[in-house]
Amino acid sequence: MSEFEKIKSQDDSYVAHTYGRFPVAIKQGKGATCFDFDGKKYIDFSSGIGVNSLGFCDEGWVNAVTQQLNTLQHISNLYYTEPCSVAAKLLCENTGMKKVFFSNSGAESNEGAIKCARKYSYTKYGNGRSKVITLVNSFHGRTVTTLAATGQDVFHNFFYPFTEGFEFVPANDIEALKNALDDTVCAVMMELIQGEGGVMPLDKIYVEQVSELCKNNDILLIIDEVQTGVGRTGKLFAFQHFDIKPDIVTTAKGLGGGLPLGCVMFGEKTENTFVPGDHATTFGGNPVATAGAGYILGKMDNDFLNEVGRKGEYIKQKILKMPYVEGVDGMGMMLGVRLEDGIKAADIVKKGIEFGVLALTAKIKIRLLPPLTISYEEIDEGLAAIEKALKEI
Ligand SMILES: *Cc1c(COP(=O)(O)O)cnc(C)c1O
Repeated sequence: MSEFEKIKSQDDSYVAHTYGRFPVAIKQGKGATCFDFDGKKYIDFSSGIGVNSLGFCDEGWVNAVTQQLNTLQHISNLYYTEPCSVAAKLLCENTGMKKVFFSNSGAESNEGAIKCARKYSYTKYGNGRSKVITLVNSFHGRTVTTLAATGQDVFHNFFYPFTEGFEFVPANDIEALKNALDDTVCAVMMELIQGEGGVMPLDKIYVEQVSELCKNNDILLIIDEVQTGVGRTGKLFAFQHFDIKPDIVTTAKGLGGGLPLGCVMFGEKTENTFVPGDHATTFGGNPVATAGAGYILGKMDNDFLNEVGRKGEYIKQKILKMPYVEGVDGMGMMLGVRLEDGIKAADIVKKGIEFGVLALTAKIKIRLLPPLTISYEEIDEGLAAIEKALKEI
């Protein structure tokens, strides 16, 4: 048995079958390049679904994390730690948000946001104003409540009863939202680019109208930046491309750079909504994870973020010249490639693995989320593999 076969058979025997895996085991990586157990090389256009912001094993990030690991790996939230306060300060200073609650995942961040919105409204208006409006085709996570918040029927199976109090309206339809906003609504929650929904950016005018409507009715605007956050779109957070001031912003994926970390950021209205006892998580703000986050956030100055935008544009222009490509959606290095009818994104991604590139799909598109530090050489090499896959399909 090869090393890969051994790993696969062990995994098949003992790991719950919740993932459709490709027949590849990745052993190690550096930057945007990684290797499997046979020594085959891959260019990574997935970054672990937008997680490895600085690529595999970035030296500065590894140093920040290991230094903290050798100093203090964890202590309960009954005590202060430095890395947690540093990461929170960087998040607030660079977004205009006021307070941060650290969590461990995207779904958990959205749970925190929903709880906060409900408490804000309950405290001010009493019972009955607890509904959260989300968008059709959204994705907000896999817990029972965040599944309920997700505006896709395929996620509303088996696990009944789901949490009450969610309603979906079509994206980019301001009249539909106006009709849904009655006195039972406490918040509107949305992604600015629907990621799992197929890399679908919202219209700028729509987003700004939603923000205005929310503001005028004291309805909280929650922006789910679990996928779009932490530099992915060429700004630190995607909402900074818009003329809006969200009341709550959630993020996760790229925040820890590969360690499990998420957060909820609160604005002026909500910064004091939670008081001690309202919300907590044992691992929240873990010093090792937040030391990594502090390092990542420290790296993301304007030069870094502008370079994300430039590389994204470079990738987009090259892909637009490839066969069967109809268009490229998205911002920065969150890109969705639309293909001509009859060409399946999943087939291209599968074929791409053969040619040494790791890409993703999102609905009917090829989705690219390269590490933000990917080099132009790595981009060229990965794109050549995608082009080869397109030509041979
Ligand atoms: C991935 C994702 C989530 C869920 O994050 P987990 O860390 O898997 O819980 C929520 N919202 C959006 C927009 C996401 O992309």
